Amino acid sequence: MKILVMGPPGAGKGSQSQKLIQDYDLSHISTGEMFRKSYERGEDLGKKAMAFINEGNLVSDKITNEIVRKRLMKPDASRCFLLDGYPRTVTQAKALDVMLSEMNSKLTAVINIVVDTDIILERMVGRRVCKACGHTYHLKFKPPQKQDVCDQCGGELYQRKDDQIDSVRNRLSIYESKTKPIIDYYKGRGVLVNINGMQSFDAVYRDIKKALRDLT
Ligand code: ADP
Ligand code: ADP
Ligand code: ZN
Repeated sequence: MKILVMGPPGAGKGSQSQKLIQDYDLSHISTGEMFRKSYERGEDLGKKAMAFINEGNLVSDKITNEIVRKRLMKPDASRCFLLDGYPRTVTQAKALDVMLSEMNSKLTAVINIVVDTDIILERMVGRRVCKACGHTYHLKFKPPQKQDVCDQCGGELYQRKDDQIDSVRNRLSIYESKTKPIIDYYKGRGVLVNINGMQSFDAVYRDIKKALRDLT
């Protein structure tokens, strides 16, 4: 199974991906998470990327395609994977097609999570992330048992710089102009499914699983 999870920032891509990778035993490939990890390790790539990320801008296609290519070449990714937050531009979608055809492979499903802007803003501003394991919480919709502490690993929760309101607005406008056109790119291939993301975590997950059953 090779799944791509799409949607505006805050749609619930990461939350749903965390469940999917466990249930279907997939390698999770999140470009945002890879950039944040690289930054924490003090690597040049991470430092370069974080300058764009903090402002809510996209990292260049060249850098992004390169880290995905390297990741897809690792043995665990050759069979089953879930791409979360990649591709984000039509140029990246085309590059991914080339990588997949080189692997003699193609996408099983493109899950597009649809959420209105007012809900997105509320989700982004309340999002908190574990510094240690990357697990995601929400102050109102998914609070941790103990304030500022990760239920999974005891790590410290923080608010991403790019989840502050100015940066979020910039990310939403970039989503509209650069990322949304990808939906048309995948239309007509018989793999694209729109999922209503304005439901509870469990209801969204149920709809995704149903869509995957229909496609496989
Ligand atoms: P979110 O979960 O809110 O959609 P991500 O964690 O996926 O955010 O990504 C955080 C940031 O990392 C993005 O706003 C962007 O700056 C950068 N980034 C992640 N994936 C890509 C990509 N495929 N192309 C360019 N930049 C990316
Ligand atoms: P993305 O990866 O698309 O940016 P996340 O999965 O990180 O989105 O979700 C953004 C925020 O919204 C997180 O704080 C998450 O806990 C919360 N969230 C995600 N899905 C739902 C949902 N169905 N109902 C309420 N809150 C949600
Ligand atoms: Zn944690």
